[in-house]
Amino acid sequence: MTAFRFAPSPTGHLHVGNARMALINWLAAKHMGGRFILRLDDTDTERSRDEYADAIRADLAWLGIDWAAEEKQSGRLASYEAAFEKLKAQGRVYPCFETPEELDYMRKRLRARGLPPIYTPPTDEKLRSYVDEGREAHWRFKLAAGEIAFDDLVRGPVRFQAENLSDPVVRRHDGTWLYMLPSAVDDADMGITHVIRGEDHVANTALQIQMFEALGAPVPAFAHLPLMTDIEGGGLSKRMGSLALKDLRADGIEPMALASYLAHLGTSDDIKAEAGMDALVAAFDFDHFSRATPKFDPAQLKRLNAQVLHATDFTAVADRLPDGVTAELWNAVRANLERVADTALWRDIRETDIDPVIDAEDAGFLAEAAGLLPGGPWDETTWGAWTGAVKAATGRKGKELFMPLRRALTGLDHGPELKAYLPLIGPERANKRLRGERG
Ligand code: GLU
Repeated sequence: MTAFRFAPSPTGHLHVGNARMALINWLAAKHMGGRFILRLDDTDTERSRDEYADAIRADLAWLGIDWAAEEKQSGRLASYEAAFEKLKAQGRVYPCFETPEELDYMRKRLRARGLPPIYTPPTDEKLRSYVDEGREAHWRFKLAAGEIAFDDLVRGPVRFQAENLSDPVVRRHDGTWLYMLPSAVDDADMGITHVIRGEDHVANTALQIQMFEALGAPVPAFAHLPLMTDIEGGGLSKRMGSLALKDLRADGIEPMALASYLAHLGTSDDIKAEAGMDALVAAFDFDHFSRATPKFDPAQLKRLNAQVLHATDFTAVADRLPDGVTAELWNAVRANLERVADTALWRDIRETDIDPVIDAEDAGFLAEAAGLLPGGPWDETTWGAWTGAVKAATGRKGKELFMPLRRALTGLDHGPELKAYLPLIGPERANKRLRGERG
């Protein structure tokens, strides 16, 4: 069975870029009948917070993502210790003693000589002097020389030469872990078969492949996706204000609009709102992903949001509509909504007194139109019959005819189709508003 994971660090709120990785892993898992695990990479105890973990769970659930199991790196330290001892016994981790300043100096010297800034272990003599000074060890993973190759499911064949990479630090002198080894140990222990993540991890993958091999674990398949940017091409973390899931949700973005957008963006698919997650699962295909940078366009998301609302039935939305929004009102206005919350406006225009908006030169025309209002009961045919009569009587047509009617009846120059909305306003208010009275 295939297994996938989403591995956020609970050090902040999810933004659309993180959510995209979560969604794509989840869609791939569902498409392939696999397991999807939520793994909290919380080894950074200073910055990890329970409230962020809670927010991540809430954001994922809102987006429609569920998980078969949750794992926390902070609860798995014994496994990392065991893997570390195993690697140590094989001579695949070794102690290092340089300070950050010394490492920086070594890198600068190499660069100045036109050489790649690759870590070289010190001479035995130097090593002894560090130990004699009483320095505490941090630990590096020893890369085996040779080519490291993998077939990326999106990028195609990827090759690294181990000699061109530094042995990565895996453990700090205080015993705490850096990202690299725990992640590989988790993927091995949890039977992860596919790792889908950002292309900022491509070089990490080369290092982790050697860790899997050294631990005797199968190497998962990898897919590295170009990282999404904002519309100007800037990094998303700097735009957290507007692109955090919690803010999009508060802004009235529907989960299916965001899921549709994030699943299709950066692929060869048409970007359109889907009716449900099943459609996205069915459409998932690694071959559809492009290597170009996907740019998150809030205007496009808004359009998908409107498409989703247009297709949403009253029963699906009833429990989160503002008080007093009925099925008939929902059906009359949904095609023109940007957000569910906007239904409150159309409820109020229907139910409470408003001041009509009337230009002086339209007053006579509107009074004449009021005189032509038919008797009740009103239904969806009323608007057409009435405006037909107004057109015949006044000679007005098009915008000249419709805009003054809309502004008098609703106080606004945009909104739902009046064919559906006029019957909800009803004869009494319509008559008053057309005559320029508050009503
Ligand atoms: N916590 C890591 C990150 O957010 C996970 C990377 C991975 O998927 O392995 O970058």
